[in-house]
Amino acid sequence: MSDISRIALLTSGGDAPGMNAAVRAVVRSADAKGIETIAVSNGYQGMIENNMRLMDAREVSGILHLGGTILGTARSDAFRTPEGRAKAADNLNAQGVDGIVIIGGDGSLTGGQKLAEEHNFHVIGIPGTIDNDLSGTDFTIGFDTAVNTAMEAIDKIRDTASSHHRTFFVEVMGRHAGWLALYAGISTGATAALIPEREDDIAHIRERIFESFKLNKRFSIIVVAEGENLGGAEAIAEMVKNGEGTENLDIRVANLGHMQRGGSPSMRDRVLGARLGDAAVQALVDGKTGVMVGERYHQIVHTPFTRLKTTERNADMFDLVEMMDRLAR
Ligand code: ATP
Repeated sequence: MSDISRIALLTSGGDAPGMNAAVRAVVRSADAKGIETIAVSNGYQGMIENNMRLMDAREVSGILHLGGTILGTARSDAFRTPEGRAKAADNLNAQGVDGIVIIGGDGSLTGGQKLAEEHNFHVIGIPGTIDNDLSGTDFTIGFDTAVNTAMEAIDKIRDTASSHHRTFFVEVMGRHAGWLALYAGISTGATAALIPEREDDIAHIRERIFESFKLNKRFSIIVVAEGENLGGAEAIAEMVKNGEGTENLDIRVANLGHMQRGGSPSMRDRVLGARLGDAAVQALVDGKTGVMVGERYHQIVHTPFTRLKTTERNADMFDLVEMMDRLAR
C-alpha cells in the first residue's frame, strides 16, 4: 500500500474517443479514496509549462459522451529531452504530486516510464489510442469507436461501389499497426485488408481483385492501412491501374482521414475507459508503478511499460487475416 495523496492526470499523444470516460473515472475514483487530482492540460507540454490545476469530481460531469479529450493533448519534443522532463518534474513537485496517471499510446507511456525512473514518481499508464497496438490489453480505448466510424463510412462507399461496379481502395489510419484496417475490413466484408505487419505485392492485390470479379462479385473494396508497405491507397490504386488487364476496372480511392478519431465514444470505449481509470487509481494505491493497466479476458492486468511493444499479438492478427481471406469469396 502507498500513501499517495495527490495525483497528476494527463492525456497525451493522439486523441481517442473514450479518453474522457477514463479522465472521469480517474478523478472520481481518486476522490472516493481521498486523493486529489491535478489535471494537466495538453499532455507533457502542459507539464513543462506548468499548465495544471486541481480538478474536482463535479468538474467531470457531462463528459462521458464527448469525443476527444477535455484535458487537451499534444506531442511534446521538449519532453523527449532529460532537461524537459526535469522541468516537468520540478513543476509536479511544486504541486505536491506523488503519483501520475497517463492516458495515451506507446510513446506517451514510454515518456512516463522515463519520468518514473529519473524522478521517482509512481506512474501508471492507461492505453488510449485508436491504433490498438499495445500488448497487455485486448483493446485500447478509442479503437472500438474508430472501427465503428470506419465501418459506417465503408458501408456507404459500398453502396456506390456496388451500384457502379467499382473497385475502391479505402485508406484508414494506422501508421504502424493494421488492427483498424483489419477490423474495418472484416466488419464490412472487404476483399482484402492491407496492413503494415504483412508485406504485400501489387501482382497479388491485382489477382485478388480479378478473383473477386470472377466470383461474380459486382464490386471490390480493399481497406488499406496508411502505413502499409506499398505507399498508401493512392499509390496502390495507381500501380494496379497501370498493370495488364485492368482497362475495365473502374478504380477509385477514398481516404477516411481524421473523421476516424472523432465522435461520441461507443459503449465499449466508455466502459473500458471507466474500468481502466478506476483500476489505475487502485494500482497507485496498491503501490504499483511503471505499469499499464489493461483488460484481458475481462480481467484487469498490469503490464510493465517495458513490455508494451511486443509482436506477440501479431499471431492473433495473422489468424484474422487468414480468416478474412477465407470469407472473402
Ligand atoms: P498514438 O498511439 O496516438 O500515436 P502515442 O502516445 O504513441 O500516441 P507519441 O507521439 O509517440 O504518441 O508520443 C506522445 C508524446 O510522448 C511525445 O510527443 C513525447 O512528448 C512523449 N514521448 C514519446 N516517446 C518518448 C520517449 N521515447 N521518451 C520521452 N518521451 C516520449
